[in-house]
Amino acid sequence: MYRASRIIHVDMDAFFASVEELDNPELKGKAVVVGGDVSQRGVVAAASYEARRFGVRSAMPMSRAVRLCPGLVIVRPRGGRYAEVSGMIHEVFERYTPLIEPISLDEAFLDVTGSIGIWDSAEQIGHEIKDAIKDEPGLVASVGIAPNKFLAKLASDLDKPDGFCVITEENKQAILDPLDVGRIWGVGSVTAKKLKEHGIVRVRQLRGMHIEHLRGIVGNLAEQLLELSQGIDGRKVELPGQAKSISQEETFAEDIGDKEVLLAVLGGQVELVAMRLRGAGLAAKTLTLKLRYGDFQTITRSRTLDEATDVTKILWDEAKGVFEKWACRGFRPLRLLGFGVSGFVEAGSQQKGLFDGADDKQKQLDKTVDEIKKRYGKGMIGRKYS
Ligand SMILES: [Mg+2]
Repeated sequence: MYRASRIIHVDMDAFFASVEELDNPELKGKAVVVGGDVSQRGVVAAASYEARRFGVRSAMPMSRAVRLCPGLVIVRPRGGRYAEVSGMIHEVFERYTPLIEPISLDEAFLDVTGSIGIWDSAEQIGHEIKDAIKDEPGLVASVGIAPNKFLAKLASDLDKPDGFCVITEENKQAILDPLDVGRIWGVGSVTAKKLKEHGIVRVRQLRGMHIEHLRGIVGNLAEQLLELSQGIDGRKVELPGQAKSISQEETFAEDIGDKEVLLAVLGGQVELVAMRLRGAGLAAKTLTLKLRYGDFQTITRSRTLDEATDVTKILWDEAKGVFEKWACRGFRPLRLLGFGVSGFVEAGSQQKGLFDGADDKQKQLDKTVDEIKKRYGKGMIGRKYS
């Protein structure tokens, strides 16, 4: 029987700042930011909604944030803790479907098409996930539900914070038409500018265009943009286990030039990737950092290990080494930072003697941490990344 796809996009509200409030209730209701020092020209990595009311935004220089909001509370980032909470949220998702595609620490797509029948509807699942995240880690998520990934992500964003929005085949065009073309997936600032130069500002105008005319403006993107402007998106929810790599990446609202903040983000990514690697029973030989500058130039820096590993500490030491090598050869502020592993072998299939000595201890530590996280969910186990 054909069943229309039901995709849920879950996006945590002000994630890093909310985790800090959760762990330190005294911060609740205050204007809180996570980020670097004012004195060291740090930037805001995340701002609570309270802080946003003063105009404070992610990636803003901390000195500016402090000027905008005199009572601002600044908290240092704790990447390991964010990865841990992210893992708890992932466990909530797993109750409803195995088809989960994590996008970043605080964002994931879930394909729940096959779960309907066990649960009444995608809406019921969406509400239960929101409630469970509210009860268990104690955080607020925005949920979008739609027939495909593009619309689901749009839906979670439309109603933020504490959002719950459903886009259907029936209402999708009415929702899409008045939106700015920049809301279409794949339309970055460069493409948006080109379209606007041709007088195309709203999605309604975009979808009315002739393909050849549009191709003249945006080239090969034309077909994709026309489809998306009609709410058509054929991309599947991709499982990390099926992929040839497991990765996490974060796009920042503005460039981040604070190495400490970047390392904290990287630490969280390494932790989450390592947990997913172990969860899949795999070990990886190659690790890759993805770095995008403000001008959208994107580079990758990889390192291949002598032996495959699933040990967080080894991956972190190597990732940090790659980062520092890049940073010392010509550091530039980043728009995007990502970490991934590839070159998989089944864990335990490596040659004997690999995990002796210090590695053995690290492996035991990872196992213990994973088990505690699984058993108790909560807790304060988190490494420090700096
Ligand atoms: Mg978010």
